[in-house]
Amino acid sequence: MANKLNIDLSKCVGCGACESACPFGAISLKDGKAAVNAETCRFCGSCVQACPVSAITMQKEEVKDAVDKSLYKGVWVYAEQRHGEISSVVYELLNKGSELAKTLNVSLSAILIGSNISAKAQDLINRGADKVYVYDDPILAEFQDDPYSCILADLIKEEKPEIVLMGATNIGRSFASRVAAKIYTGLTADCTALEIDPETRNLMQTRPAFGGNIMATILTPRHRPQMATVRHKVFKEAKVQEGRTGEVINKTVDAQKVINRTKFIGFFKDQTADVNISDADIIVSGGRGLGNPEGFKLIKELADLLGGAVGASRAAVDSDWIPYSHQVGQTGRTVAPKIYIACGISGQIQHMVGMSSSDTIIAINKDKDCPMMQTATYSLVGDLYEIIPAIIKEIKNIKG
Ligand SMILES: Cc1cc2nc3c(=O)[nH]c(=O)nc-3n(C[C@H](O)[C@H](O)[C@H](O)COP(=O)(O)OP(=O)(O)OC[C@H]3O[C@@H](n4cnc5c(N)ncnc54)[C@H](O)[C@@H]3O)c2cc1C
Repeated sequence: MANKLNIDLSKCVGCGACESACPFGAISLKDGKAAVNAETCRFCGSCVQACPVSAITMQKEEVKDAVDKSLYKGVWVYAEQRHGEISSVVYELLNKGSELAKTLNVSLSAILIGSNISAKAQDLINRGADKVYVYDDPILAEFQDDPYSCILADLIKEEKPEIVLMGATNIGRSFASRVAAKIYTGLTADCTALEIDPETRNLMQTRPAFGGNIMATILTPRHRPQMATVRHKVFKEAKVQEGRTGEVINKTVDAQKVINRTKFIGFFKDQTADVNISDADIIVSGGRGLGNPEGFKLIKELADLLGGAVGASRAAVDSDWIPYSHQVGQTGRTVAPKIYIACGISGQIQHMVGMSSSDTIIAINKDKDCPMMQTATYSLVGDLYEIIPAIIKEIKNIKG
């Protein structure tokens, strides 16, 4: 059966609400009654909701599952590590993962791939993993997409988890898509919320869409596992429970199955990556309101006095006033500090999605009505070039 839109012409009053609601221009009034163009209709249901007299109904296509979903059980977290250091987003995913596993009444597993990393398995158990699958082999010393994705895809085929979560880091972003493609399942990148639909057991994966103007909830209803990457700092880290017990499953790498089309030459650390605003407790951020790159000297002076880090809006980054590693927002970092001080930043949605979880937001802006001032815990109305020096002076007085 295919999707079908039915219009009951005896009920239709020709009000045109459906025509205005259709985002695809697929429905219009003909002789005073609604008429649908079956070729352009995308069956989104907007007209059904908009019709005030319930004249439009939709018959949804019955789509069969692509796999036997009952065979897939368990929540997995990919325990990303680099040179033996577990990425902190993993602990955040273990926290959310254990909540999802509890709702589904299944176990939570972590997957650790690398060299000389077996000792880290207990850290993952202490943070909530019930099982840890470990691939510890010198050939895995440096992260490379090909071998890592071969290993994870094979393990997924073997063990059949229903959910696989990864950090939306540089590694996670490039790696997750390769794994998803190998196992023919969907992947939702950059999620900001994850919930379980109790009726279907589907993972509801929410992320900003259309340039951050709406939040879209995406499902993987027919395929398994359901894969999602999640940004750093979206969830709180799982607490450490010393001495927690769990199962460690040591796996061996089948070198014949591991394909590698690239050659590792060397690892060069990005120097700007030292600016780790994601972990700072206090962030002082500057935006276009600074007017020029020199303004960041003032921002840095305040940040240094408070023991914080310097953040920026994309407008400031795009103007080449400060490197990208400082950018907060949808296409920058997600941060959740105790105090976020936004100086000359208007608070467009793409900036807000990256910092709205901050405990306390202080905004300094000339425009008392801009979104940042409306959202802030404390709003200081005025010229930042008067307010920030006054704050700096006061802090220096207090510090002596
Ligand atoms: C797909 C997409 C992704 C994006 N991703 C991001 C992102 O990751 N991060 C991000 O920040 N933006 C992002 N943007 C851009 C975003 O939409 C805004 O353009 C940007 O955040 C605006 O930066 P701003 O607040 O610094 O500048 P503006 O919006 O121009 O605001 C400047 C503010 O400074 C105030 N001001 C001016 N002079 C002074 C003064 N002397 N004292 C005090 N206040 C003053 C003004 O009142 C104003 O409120 C994205 C946009 C798109 C389309």
